[in-house]
Amino acid sequence: MDVGPSVQETLALVYRLQTIDNELVQITGEIETSRAGLREKEEELAGLSARIDSERKDLQSLAREKKDKEEELRTNEHIISENKKKNKELRNSREIQAYMAEMEFRRDEVERLQDEILRLMEAIETLERILDGRTAEIESRRQELDAVRSAQAGLEKEKEGDITALESEKTQLMSSFPENLLAQYQRLKISHKNGLVVSRIQEGTCGACRMVLPPRTMTEVKRRQKIIPCLHCQRWLYLE
Ligand SMILES: [Zn+2]
Repeated sequence: MDVGPSVQETLALVYRLQTIDNELVQITGEIETSRAGLREKEEELAGLSARIDSERKDLQSLAREKKDKEEELRTNEHIISENKKKNKELRNSREIQAYMAEMEFRRDEVERLQDEILRLMEAIETLERILDGRTAEIESRRQELDAVRSAQAGLEKEKEGDITALESEKTQLMSSFPENLLAQYQRLKISHKNGLVVSRIQEGTCGACRMVLPPRTMTEVKRRQKIIPCLHCQRWLYLE
């Protein structure tokens, strides 16, 4: 493609445009990556909060169960003490037998309930310890998340400044482009791997594909009359 005698100067513009485009992609990627990191931390904290909520509910239900058992225990102890008062009123062996059976049953109940209450107290104590640790963990995660959030805000502000500067340079660059060249650049940008359209020549090799350029190609590039593509990767060769 013939773009006049200043072909390398034009390519310098294209090369700069390409650098800007790549930088924009990179900056956007950096913002996305750090946002994803922040989201991950937020999800972790949400998971932890859900866990502590369910553990608090477990604790409440254990406390309720303990209260019920204590009530039941008091009822049984009351019955035993009331029965003892009636001890002397027993008139025959049948009544004595019934009394003994009742008392044995009540004493077994008291023993069983005491065991259960003890078991519940231990479970409550264990869960309370877990909850204490969990609360401390949530607090430290929350502080960590706050720090990450403010770092993220700072980073985004900084990157947005970079993006604005690059975008305005890009707009200016594009306005000084020959229109057909810009269209071609944008088309090739999509078809070329990594969006590289222009390749800077570095010590006689193509900067994009690293192949050594034949002397004839170098001569053509130096003649500066038209855009010369790399024979291997088809990118526009640019000699600084
Ligand atoms: Zn190449």
